[in-house]
Amino acid sequence: MTTVTPPSQAIIRPEKDTFLEEENPFESMMSRFDYAAQRLSLDPGLYKVLRSPEKQIIVSVPFLRDSGEVDVYTGYRVLYNTSRGPAKGGIRFDLNVTLDEVKALAAWMTWKCAVVNIPFGGSKGGVVCDPASLSNAELERITRRYTSAIIETLGPDSDVPAPDVNTNERMMAWIMDTYSMHKRHTVTAVVTGKPVEMGGSLGRREATGRGCMIVTREALRRLRMPVEGTRVVVQGFGNVGSIGAQLMEEQGMSVVAVSDKSGAVYNPKGLRIREVIQHVRQHRFLSEYKEAEHLTNEQMLTLDCDVLVPAAMENVITSHNAGQIKARIICEGANGPTTAGADKILDQNGVFVIPDILANAGGVTVSYFEWVQDRGGYFWDEDTVNQRLERIMVQSFEEVAGMAGRHGINLRIGAYMQAIERVAAVHRLRGMYA
Ligand code: NAD
Repeated sequence: MTTVTPPSQAIIRPEKDTFLEEENPFESMMSRFDYAAQRLSLDPGLYKVLRSPEKQIIVSVPFLRDSGEVDVYTGYRVLYNTSRGPAKGGIRFDLNVTLDEVKALAAWMTWKCAVVNIPFGGSKGGVVCDPASLSNAELERITRRYTSAIIETLGPDSDVPAPDVNTNERMMAWIMDTYSMHKRHTVTAVVTGKPVEMGGSLGRREATGRGCMIVTREALRRLRMPVEGTRVVVQGFGNVGSIGAQLMEEQGMSVVAVSDKSGAVYNPKGLRIREVIQHVRQHRFLSEYKEAEHLTNEQMLTLDCDVLVPAAMENVITSHNAGQIKARIICEGANGPTTAGADKILDQNGVFVIPDILANAGGVTVSYFEWVQDRGGYFWDEDTVNQRLERIMVQSFEEVAGMAGRHGINLRIGAYMQAIERVAAVHRLRGMYA
């Protein structure tokens, strides 16, 4: 989640070499899927079914500019697989959104929900736009028109969106309101990540970062490394990165560097994360933070540290820079930050990668809790949410590590195998309507 910039504020563009394009995200996801499916000896019919998205929707989103002109943007919604339950997946507003990216993200949601064993399928959506160049009123009109364009797929029993890059609680409130107006009654469970006042869950905002902290702590335990003093580097200082960094610091880890699209700040003795968060609240970007050395995102990724948390975007760890990574553990807060080419190099170098579909599953887990609370009309206190999240994350980490150990593979393929096995089992039980 992120806040929306008024058009008057300057946009800071990412450094040019931050992302080295290496792979189409869908192909990247599929290469891991294929390998895991082969290890599971998945039968050929199911293999074909699980390689194909169930539904791909492309819509035009006409909207009125504040100037009175009409503009038309493109929106996508992909439902990848709904065999285990309603589709679940965020909506992203970004200029880089493509159908291939949305397909990959929808597939990842399917595997992610299965890894943590919650009864959802996977979906994702996006609108190709630059939110920083739009006013709040324009964003509201785009959000509502996009919602109405995909309304047939939406619903608590069919497809439940959530925030993702450049979308936030406020937009989820607009989606909920638009959907409810069409249905002629209030339907809170149609989206998650809503404001708490209107059916959101306590603990949802912190859930993805909290999940990252929990699996990192479990990985340290497994590798017999101390938590206290562990040096952490976090790329991306939005919802996932800033909260993950803060919770890791609270556990006794030392967060030595963090970054956003304006660049990185580094202090080998450890940053004071609360202060950095305060700075970003006031100044929006890290570029003017005075209490640390400034580096590029690319330099930051290869710093000497114990844990690296990529929590910004896809394809940041590639075959070009994987060999220089010094971290012992990578905790993938972002979706798809590591390319398949990079995985090979990290494996050879003994880097312990906690894959995205496990590491950042805390968010969808508490989204599931939110959906359950909305449907039951009974709301839990924050301790209950956090305890239940902790239990699911620890158990899922153990299950994935167990799968990886039994098959002599890394955690990523272990997580895919765990997920594919669960989705395939439901397909077998349901039988083929063909
Ligand atoms: P966000 O918009 O709140 O924050 C993104 C952060 O990344 C910002 O600090 C931004 O400045 C930084 N960033 C953007 N481009 C960058 C670049 N080129 N180089 C370095 N930093 C850059 O987004 P978020 O919700 O924190 O999501 C981050 C990632 O985590 C995404 O991949 C998202 O899909 C994934 N994720 C988010 C959640 C969630 O609950 N928010 C759940 C699961 C996965």
